[in-house]
Amino acid sequence: MSDKNKHERTKRIFKITGICLIVAGAAFAITGFIDFFTSFGTGDMPSLFWCLFIGLPMLAAGASLTALGFRREITGYVKNETIPVINEAGQEITPAVSAIAKAVKGEESNLCPICGKPNDEEAKFCRHCGADLLVICKNCGKKVKSGAFCSECGAKLE
Ligand SMILES: [Zn+2]
Ligand SMILES: [Zn+2]
Repeated sequence: MSDKNKHERTKRIFKITGICLIVAGAAFAITGFIDFFTSFGTGDMPSLFWCLFIGLPMLAAGASLTALGFRREITGYVKNETIPVINEAGQEITPAVSAIAKAVKGEESNLCPICGKPNDEEAKFCRHCGADLLVICKNCGKKVKSGAFCSECGAKLE
């Protein structure tokens, strides 16, 4: 059996045992409470008061076991889902923020000829659509930024 399956099984046992303990503990605690309060009315000694002392620790143990059973799922969820989402959000936000910063400063961005979005000055390919940001000038043979004219020799680019 693989380690992951063993974890899955332990987790399930924790959850089932925890939930059973909560249910049983709650039953004991409620019995104890009802007995305690009904005894007040009658003036008798609460005979089932001990149920509270069993029920409450059972509830606590059940709650912590259930929490343990669910915790790995929660950490797994955090590891597998939340962080990539945050990273993706960060990757989306960072270029936008730098583009805004550049626009505010009045700097010219390396705009993509296909989608028109800004890229890093040194970028060879558009990070938004993958278009080639460099073209080979037919006049001087150098790789230059795509645009109307070659930035090396001034020849008209196709
Ligand atoms: Zn593009
Ligand atoms: Zn050229």
